[in-house]
Amino acid sequence: MASKRDYYEVLGIDKTASEEEIKKAYRKLAKKYHPDMNQGDKGAELKFKELNEAYEVLSDKEKKARYDQFGHAGVDPNGFGGAGGGFGGFGGFGGFGGSGGTGGFEDIFDMFFGGTGGFGSTGSARRKSGPQKGADLKYELEIEFEEAAFGVKKNIHVTRNETCNDCKGTGAKAGTNPETCKVCGGSGEVRFTQSTIFGRVVNVRSCDECHGEGKVIKEPCPQCKGRGRVRKSRKITIDIPAGVDTGSVMPLRGEGEPGLKGGPNGDLYIYIRVKPHKLFKREGINLYGEIPISFTQAALGDEIEVNTLEGKIKYLIPEGTQTGTTFRIRNKGIPILKSKARGDLYITVKVTIPKKLSEKQKELLRQFAEISGDEAGEQGKSFFDKVKDAFGK
Ligand SMILES: [Zn+2]
Ligand SMILES: [Zn+2]
Repeated sequence: MASKRDYYEVLGIDKTASEEEIKKAYRKLAKKYHPDMNQGDKGAELKFKELNEAYEVLSDKEKKARYDQFGHAGVDPNGFGGAGGGFGGFGGFGGFGGSGGTGGFEDIFDMFFGGTGGFGSTGSARRKSGPQKGADLKYELEIEFEEAAFGVKKNIHVTRNETCNDCKGTGAKAGTNPETCKVCGGSGEVRFTQSTIFGRVVNVRSCDECHGEGKVIKEPCPQCKGRGRVRKSRKITIDIPAGVDTGSVMPLRGEGEPGLKGGPNGDLYIYIRVKPHKLFKREGINLYGEIPISFTQAALGDEIEVNTLEGKIKYLIPEGTQTGTTFRIRNKGIPILKSKARGDLYITVKVTIPKKLSEKQKELLRQFAEISGDEAGEQGKSFFDKVKDAFGK
């Protein structure tokens, strides 16, 4: 293997260089060696590659630390189990090329409360030739208001790639196997020697014949056409906990696209959307509703029926209730996720004025007005006492 240049040397900086200095050095050299500026210049292309590789490591705190400690073997995917050997155990390093999570459900609540911070953080760097985590999938699920409040089990159908059964994912027709690439001998790399002003240099590039896979499929599997995977619709049952809301996201670990080369599956993210309710508005864990009451009920007080998510309950309105008054009914709101507690229901009363009155009603109201004089509406409690009298209750 061609010996690798030290990354600090590639960037022309000191080991003590700051983040800013690393970035600056990279920008300067990237401009110099950029393929657009050096059309057809193989040397510049390789320099550009080398530069990017160095920057990828040195600009990442974690990788830089590993590089400082172990050198190239600590960060170079090709170094693992390669000619150098000895570093086979490195694959387990945290944060390396994926979450390492293997199937099953995570504690979904962490996600609900964790905001979106956890998103997309599934390993920044991907090994080019090593195991790769499968792609994540997104699924939007609309549920009823009550289902969101009290939780529900839902079956969903998700179409995703799955390992082809016929070829077990190899992509080769049943009874045949992918063959070792004759061009590169299975390494996926081709070495070639170049004469430069510095002497002969050995270069390595990905093998064109097998696209760096090291294996060639002679007879592709007819079922998957050599892809090794097929599109399949899968039924997944999800347990939606009480208290979710529009914008809640449930991650289902390992339910995404299959990983490559033994990598873990991607994840499936369920995005919840809650349908509106015809009576209630929801704000967090509290519910808000309105209820019309007659002006006699408002004036005299009454036991009224109030709708809740779980049916009607009786509620006592005190006499003298003004229109627009809001009453709080405890524990009739939305259950709090991961808790037994609940929010409250707020009911605002709207006093309705009758549009059609009988002669008798009109007569009584006239009497009422007479007794009240011009003070109606201004006299607090005494006003309602008069209403009471006027209606003979
Ligand atoms: Zn197949
Ligand atoms: Zn090859």
